[in-house]
Order: sequence, then structure tokens, then C-alpha cells
Amino acid sequence: MAKLHVITYGCQMNEYDSERVAGLLKTLHNYDLTDREDDADLILLNTCSIREKAEEKVFSKLGQLKPLKRKNPELIIGVIGCMAQLRQAAIMERAPVVDLVFGSPAISRVGELVERVKRERRPVLETGEAPLVKITAKPQSGDRLKAFVTVMEGCDKFCAFCVVPYTRGRERSHSVESILAEIRGLAGQGYREVTLLGQNVNAYGKDLDPPTDLAALLDQVNELDGIERIRFVTSNPVNLTSRLIRVMAEVPKVCQYLHLPLQSGSDRVLVRMNRGYSRGRYLELIAELEETVPGIALSTDLIVGFPGESEEDFEATVEMVETVQYDSVFAFRYSPRPRTPAAEFPDQVPEPVKAARLTRLLEVANRVGAEKSRALEGRTLEVLVDGVSRKDPRELSGRTRCNRVVNFDGQGRTLYGELVRVRITQAMPHSLRGELVDEED
Ligand code: SF4
Repeated sequence: MAKLHVITYGCQMNEYDSERVAGLLKTLHNYDLTDREDDADLILLNTCSIREKAEEKVFSKLGQLKPLKRKNPELIIGVIGCMAQLRQAAIMERAPVVDLVFGSPAISRVGELVERVKRERRPVLETGEAPLVKITAKPQSGDRLKAFVTVMEGCDKFCAFCVVPYTRGRERSHSVESILAEIRGLAGQGYREVTLLGQNVNAYGKDLDPPTDLAALLDQVNELDGIERIRFVTSNPVNLTSRLIRVMAEVPKVCQYLHLPLQSGSDRVLVRMNRGYSRGRYLELIAELEETVPGIALSTDLIVGFPGESEEDFEATVEMVETVQYDSVFAFRYSPRPRTPAAEFPDQVPEPVKAARLTRLLEVANRVGAEKSRALEGRTLEVLVDGVSRKDPRELSGRTRCNRVVNFDGQGRTLYGELVRVRITQAMPHSLRGELVDEED
């Protein structure tokens, strides 16, 4: 049987796509997954274009794969995903070791494309658009409790720094029926938590006939037996409606956690980023979320050193972290991406300035996150047990509804896949410690 090795870079959407590629190749072409690249007949690198650094990692990996190809000329090496869509010419030029390049829209055709490489014995490039296909094939994987489910692809927003509209195309929603069928299948296999994925997930359903929305979809997923928790990511503030906020409070299985990218706290920068909301509007949404969904946990994405960002603009971002009190922050230095308008802006910020700003922002974000964690001490939270603690395998581990990792003594019980109540005793830098609470307590 042929062997497939997949290396995934980037976001959860890519993790999901890699799983589906492996599932399709297993079901239709008999490829078994292997952890070892030196054992593989086919190596696929599922790539990310969000930052230049992510692309350089791929080129360096392709360099490392050269000796394998020399040893086994039959080995097929493919580059797939966002970078494949955006940078096919650079890939073929810099890495002649590559046999196959195709973007995310062609993922459902992976088997046919691999066969073409074998047949034609020359590199195959496929970066055109393709119809939206729901792929549900999924290989056996480690996590049997939590699954990602793509509900829509692409994005129409064209933020000035982002490549997604160019690599993943325009917003296209999967049908409600196909999503519910996929989740029913997952529940049948024992999965208990699903995360609905889309680059701009809260725009879900506008393009369907008849149109629908994410709030309605969450309500329908809530009805499915076996599934206990529902999350969704990534939300754009522009599409966050009062109806969706109410659903987060009222639909029992929807978790009280929201990742809401802010990107910058400065109105001037938000306009240049083409984000479509102001700092004031964002704060209004936060106030509505906190009032409607008490105890909601919030996380965000921030960019430092966007072209033209002044010290004052940057301080406005730091101030937002203090004001909103995020549970966690994902902050990055701005990285110019080909084809995006911001890459052409004349007022690029020097790298040392970006680095210093990032350090300062992360210091503040870590302090705020630690304070939020400490505020959980003494509270009793619902935990979905998903395994054992990484540091101490005698302890159990799981996640709260607000997405925090909790480690605790399971008192000799397995409890895998069960929802238990845990009293938080100590906030650690990256996790919480707790003790199991008996139901009678
Ligand atoms: S909304 Fe998100 S995915 Fe869409 S263009 Fe902006 S940053 Fe990119």
C-alpha cells in the first residue's frame, strides 16, 4: 500500500484541509498515512501565505527533502494550499524538487492530480477555481472528541494586508444539509465537540438559496444528539449581529467564547486596513457581548507595525488590550504580502520598531491574560475531559467552555469524553489546575 506524509503549516482551516486530503487519498486511492517522510511515496506540504516567514519555512523544508528525492526518484512531492495558489511560479523556480502544486480550491481533485503526475512524469500545476465540494472523508486521528467542520470558504472583505481573498477566493457557504450530515456522522463516531470553520464564519449563509445565517445554523447543530459543545471561528466584527450574540447566550451547546480580531486599536490604521469598523463600534460590540453573555471569554488578533502606524496608533492598540481585558491575544508583526495593497504603501515601519512594539504588546497581553486566569480561581467550571496532562500523565486534562486547559487529579477514573465539574485551584501561565467536584457537592 502507498504511503502519504502530510506536513501542515498555518491555520485550523489548513489542518482541516490536510485531514480531508488524507481522507480522500485513503478512501479513493489507498494511501495510508505515515509519520515518517523517509517512508513516504507522496509528501504533501499544505502551506500558509499569511506571513513571509511561513513561506520561508516551506522553502527550507523543500530543501531538506531534496536528498529523499535523490534516493527515491519515484517520490512525489506536492505543495498545496494558500502559498501554492499565490506563489506557484516562485515555487517551481526555487524548488525544482516539487512535482505538484495546487491551491485550496482544487483539494477535492487531489487523487486525480497525483495520478496525473505519475502518468505524465512532469510537474503538474493546478491553481484554477473549482466548484465548492464538501469533503467529509477523515482519516483516523488522535483526537476522537473534537472536530473541525468547514462551513464556508473564502472571504469578500479584502483587508489591505490579507491574502485570503486571493488564495481562497470569494465567500462561499456549504449547504446546511451537508454540514448537518457531516456533524451527524462525527457524532456517530463519538465526537462531542465541533468547531465550525470559515475565514469569515459569521457571514455564513448569505449566499445560499434561500439565504440563512450562522445563528440559524448554530440552532440546528444544537439539536444533534451526541454533540455537547459548539464553537465557531473566525468572526469578523462587521458581521457580528445582535442575533448571533443572543444565540451565544441562549443556545445551550454554544460555548461562551469568542475570537474577535481587532487588528488595531487606532481608527486611522483601521481605515487604512480597510477593516470596516471603528474602535468605538468594536467597543460597542464588546459591551453588548458582555451584557448578553455574562462571563464570555474573548480573544483577538493584533498586527503591530502596519504601514504608517505611529507610536500613538500603537499605544491605542495597547490601550484596547487593557480596556477589553482579553483572555488571550495573538499578536504578529506586519508582514507585506504579494498582491495586497498594504505591501505597496510607502510608509513601511522598520523591523526593529515592529519587534520592540510586539514585545511591549505581548507583555501587556500576558499580564492581562494572567489576571483573567487568576479571576477563575475558586470557580467551578464544566470541563470536557480529552486526555491526560502533558506534564504529568497521572493527571487528567480537559477544556472549559471558555477554552482554557485544566489539569486535575481524576481520582483514578478515566472520564475520557465526559463532562465533569472542576473547581479551579490555581492559575498557571498556560493552563489551570483544579480538583474534581463530586456532583453532590
Ligand atoms: S476578513 Fe479576515 S480573511 Fe477576510 S480579508 Fe480580512 S483578514 Fe483576511
